[in-house]
Amino acid sequence: MNKGLLIVYTGASGVGKGTIMKELLRKNPNLRLSVSATTRAPREGEVDGREYYFVSREKFDRMIAEDGFLEHAEYVGNKYGTPKEAVFRMLDEGLDVILEIEVKGFLQIKKACPDCVTIFIAPPSFEVLEARLKGRGTETDEVIEKRLKTAREELQSQNLFDYIVINDDVDRATDEVLSIISDTKNERNIKE
Ligand code: 5GP
Repeated sequence: MNKGLLIVYTGASGVGKGTIMKELLRKNPNLRLSVSATTRAPREGEVDGREYYFVSREKFDRMIAEDGFLEHAEYVGNKYGTPKEAVFRMLDEGLDVILEIEVKGFLQIKKACPDCVTIFIAPPSFEVLEARLKGRGTETDEVIEKRLKTAREELQSQNLFDYIVINDDVDRATDEVLSIISDTKNERNIKE
């Protein structure tokens, strides 16, 4: 059986990754999003087991000790990690798996799974990112400032990725990501 493709999908807070991701999953039925574990509190409307597995710090540390993560990292005061077993199970079933993770996690995956394809979603400009993050209204001013500082650092890492996709338009950016996935599979002879 053909194994699926592992895709790392990274971009700063507020860049519109979530919106593009919804479209990717809608348009590509072979694609699955890995659900991460996090110690951050759920935002309004987020459901445990759908956006994230919301866990305590103790549970998160236990998962690390049990070698349950493919990668994990701290981001603006909270921990985030990719549960290992589910990802390998889906890849074995021939599904393509997308990890929406930050830069430190990307660096770990690049080492652990060199066959993955890595995509950075960039804003048209830093000002656009700032406006989106402030306009979203889901974070306090202090958290927004910290996220913007992290975003500035993350933008400096964008050249380490296989592809940079600029989110100037959701439909266009979605189609570009879909093409990257299908072109990579064709090049590697992974059946659609
Ligand atoms: P948010 O709190 O906005 O949902 O996510 C904050 C950051 O953590 C985002 O850049 C998101 O991509 C990243 N993230 C989400 N899940 C994981 C994960 O499992 N591992 C790592 N390294 N980063 C993650």
